[in-house]
Amino acid sequence: MPKAVGIDLGTTNSVIAVMEGGRPEVIVNAEGARTTPSVVAYKGEEILVGQIARRQAALNPAATLFEVKRFIGRRWDEVKEEAARSPFTVKEGPGGSVRVSVNGKDLAPEQVSAEVLRKLVADASAKLGSKITDAVITVPAYFDNSQREATKQAGEIAGLNVLRVINEPTAAALAYGLERKGNETVLVFDLGGGTFDVTILELGDGVFEVKSTAGDTHLGGADFDHRIVDWLADEFNKEHQFDLRKDKQALQRLIEAAEKAKIDLSNASETSVSLPFITFDPETRTPMHLERTLTRAKFEELTADLLKRVRHPVEQALSDAKMSASDINEVILVGGSTRIPAVKRIVKEITGKEPNESVNPDEAVALGAAVQAGIIQGDSSLGDIVLVDVTPLTLGVEVKGGMIAPMITRNTTVPAKKTEIYTTAENNQPGVEINVLQGERPMAADNKSLGRFKLEGIPPMRAGQAQIEVTFDIDANGILHVTAKEKTSGKESSIRIENTTTLDKTDVERMVKEAEQNAAADKARKEKVEKRNNLDSLRVQAQQQLDEAESADQGSKDKLKASIEAAEEAIRSEDDGKITDAQKNLEEELRTFMAANQNAGAAQGEAQQGPTVNTKKDDDVIDADFKPAE
Ligand code: AMP
Repeated sequence: MPKAVGIDLGTTNSVIAVMEGGRPEVIVNAEGARTTPSVVAYKGEEILVGQIARRQAALNPAATLFEVKRFIGRRWDEVKEEAARSPFTVKEGPGGSVRVSVNGKDLAPEQVSAEVLRKLVADASAKLGSKITDAVITVPAYFDNSQREATKQAGEIAGLNVLRVINEPTAAALAYGLERKGNETVLVFDLGGGTFDVTILELGDGVFEVKSTAGDTHLGGADFDHRIVDWLADEFNKEHQFDLRKDKQALQRLIEAAEKAKIDLSNASETSVSLPFITFDPETRTPMHLERTLTRAKFEELTADLLKRVRHPVEQALSDAKMSASDINEVILVGGSTRIPAVKRIVKEITGKEPNESVNPDEAVALGAAVQAGIIQGDSSLGDIVLVDVTPLTLGVEVKGGMIAPMITRNTTVPAKKTEIYTTAENNQPGVEINVLQGERPMAADNKSLGRFKLEGIPPMRAGQAQIEVTFDIDANGILHVTAKEKTSGKESSIRIENTTTLDKTDVERMVKEAEQNAAADKARKEKVEKRNNLDSLRVQAQQQLDEAESADQGSKDKLKASIEAAEEAIRSEDDGKITDAQKNLEEELRTFMAANQNAGAAQGEAQQGPTVNTKKDDDVIDADFKPAE
């Protein structure tokens, strides 16, 4: 059975890991890096993923998608603000969902995330030497039902069998706790690129029990970047009366520079931002430059309110776990943004503890996911590990008066199942519509509607007589399944979930096909480029031979020259057939030329060794392309 992997599908970066010899190990990508930027760029027909996509972002801002995790499984009205500051187009999709628009095509965030997963898995399969099919994917603990479901669908679109969706802080705790002996209570503080989670767990004897979780899915490193972006743009605007945020390309450069400045300030007390030729004066067309110095103190001033926002979830998690800060033995930092000195300071202030920095904040989540994959696959080296997790948000239904009636409260251990009986409000009511909600606010309208389900075909009855049994069932992924039946009549009716932001089955199937087609087209494109490049390097080699072989007879020189010219022509034409013919012809000519030349050399008593001709067949070349970079 091929090994299952653990994947941390991050807002900014993603990581993939696998169990090797009883320990989780990160698998490096084709570029040799341990983390892969969660960036996808659409360039003509080509889809670029990772560092290569990130590098061309400033030149292709409208079609370079990043931080898409902020939109996955979301409703449009939840993300309008974030959408407005994006250099690419984010808009409302069907049923109030979110779509990103690239080159005139609307894509679901799931499809974009699937491209990141696809690259991670393809690179890792090449490294491991076997095709990866199964994965555990992590999500922020505070992700709601639709966000979890959408993440799972992203995995499916990427062709993966998603064994489990697990919470990022729980995964980090697994990685941390694997090596620890004894009992302890830990608080995982996870501030990543786009989300913030706090989880309190008790560890001991192989049991990892989550006591509570809290968070904010609208808070992460990108918000800190945007404060710098706004400051830089405002300063520039004051000086030049020009808003850089309106120029997509300038905005993309500002975002990159802001992140870099923020990272610099984790180690230095000040940094300079220098963006020459950031734009042109609209009237005079003279270039404009941006130069600013940002101090750590100013950065902390700009982000003071963001820093304050981490306090409440920590306090809520402690109170839900019925603990106080003094009950916590270790505070574990996860997520790249915990490297910000002010974040570390505030964690210490709230918990009264020096944070434990023994885990790598970038890798712990993926490592923990690999451990979970190992547990599911029965990896004997892991012994008996039991993971007990909770649901982060209360689930309920809307009842009369627009209130929420909770069915499963937050921090209930999952899997969980709860049944409640509801009834009709009017005489002879033929059906009911139940609004399934997730959230902590008392009024239904203030919570997220996961969908409305209709139970139809209730026989005529007086008000209050019908017995509608509604069951909420949360699986180990934290994903909710709802069933309902009318008990008095014994009649079960089908449930239709409407208005959900997640994709329906046919959408997923279509996207799986599209992704496969894209992958096939990408492969074909790559092969074509490889073929052309091979012919080009053979042409260079042949030209060198020709230049160096002064003593060769003119006839064979002319023949080789003609083949070189034919190769040049074929490369220019980009015609596949011509390239194949030219490659064959040039290989043959070069071989003949070298053999004749060597004979000539031998006749002259020179023991000459000619360079090896590149005689690889196309197939070999393609295989080589899929081999991991060492
Ligand atoms: P993650 O989602 O855990 O990969 O975290 C990514 C976030 O961490 C991004 O917003 C990064 O800009 C941020 N980050 C990474 N390294 C640092 C650092 N040294 N200082 C501040 N933020 C960082």
